[in-house]
Amino acid sequence: MGSHKGTLRIFDGAVAVVTGGASGIGRALAEKLVKRGAEVVLADLQIELAKKVASDIRAAGGKAQTVEVDVSDYSAVEALVQSTVERTGRLDYMFNNAGIVVAGEVRDYGIEDWDRVIDVNLRGVTNGIQAAYQVMLKQGFGHIVNTASVAGLWPFTHIVGYTATKHAVVGLSKSLRAEAAPAGIRVSVVCPGLIRTPIWNGGKYGKILVDIPFEKMKPLAERLWPMNSDIFASKTLDAVARNKAIIVVPGWWKLAWWLHRVSPSLGIFLARKVFQKIQRDLSRLRE
Ligand code: NAD
Repeated sequence: MGSHKGTLRIFDGAVAVVTGGASGIGRALAEKLVKRGAEVVLADLQIELAKKVASDIRAAGGKAQTVEVDVSDYSAVEALVQSTVERTGRLDYMFNNAGIVVAGEVRDYGIEDWDRVIDVNLRGVTNGIQAAYQVMLKQGFGHIVNTASVAGLWPFTHIVGYTATKHAVVGLSKSLRAEAAPAGIRVSVVCPGLIRTPIWNGGKYGKILVDIPFEKMKPLAERLWPMNSDIFASKTLDAVARNKAIIVVPGWWKLAWWLHRVSPSLGIFLARKVFQKIQRDLSRLRE
């Protein structure tokens, strides 16, 4: 690295760390990054799954490594970034993507549900930034891409703790983007709508606090025009390459975002109507 200031690679020859890279959105982003010429480091708690994804990528001629990491553990995230930079000499992208959902009403939460969703979804992102930003400042380039959600842009019932973390990630990304730009560092926040991934079913580490089998609830999610993760990843990487600040995919969710910005009280009113509708649907499923 030395005193020479390199430049961000988009994406050919780039080095990208993807947390939560073993499954769903992280996996799809990693696979598309490799297709566009990047080398990826899949950082995940599900290490066996991450290794399988990495070996498939390598078998197809791409470059992929794995690191077992709990993103809520700062020293593990720091070691992940350090080992990557020592090995490759650079860090172009830090995708802070790992996340969990706790689904259900707040009345059914235990304190551990608040704690874990904050630890993974918010602290996981701040840990990634703390580890990667210093490296990027020294390099004079880098792009931090945080995965929030459309639940970071307006209110959603049944995932209240999750919305708190995702609103925080949107706020932190916008603020850091403004602060980091003069140093040549890019910050974007990705706000997925509904994407087909294992998180729907709680994922490996999340929790569904609703007493109805997932298969019965699935049709409710299907009503929200979910997108497949590979299409999502392509669209997202196109927007990352253009250095967009807030990336909303599928794009039609921007309409609700716009509505909520025009009138926050209308947004809350609509969230309440949706809450009542979901409650009615859930009671019907219990019959
Ligand atoms: P997923 O469950 O398929 O993938 C999440 C990955 O994160 C898993 O591989 C899991 O092992 C990993 N992970 C969880 N906790 C971890 C931890 N403490 N340390 C390291 N790795 C950990 O779910 P996904 O849908 O791909 O979710 C990825 C991101 O996208 C999350 O931040 C999620 O909130 C966000 N998101 C998803 C959707 C959707 O509809 N799928 C919508 C909006 C936002």
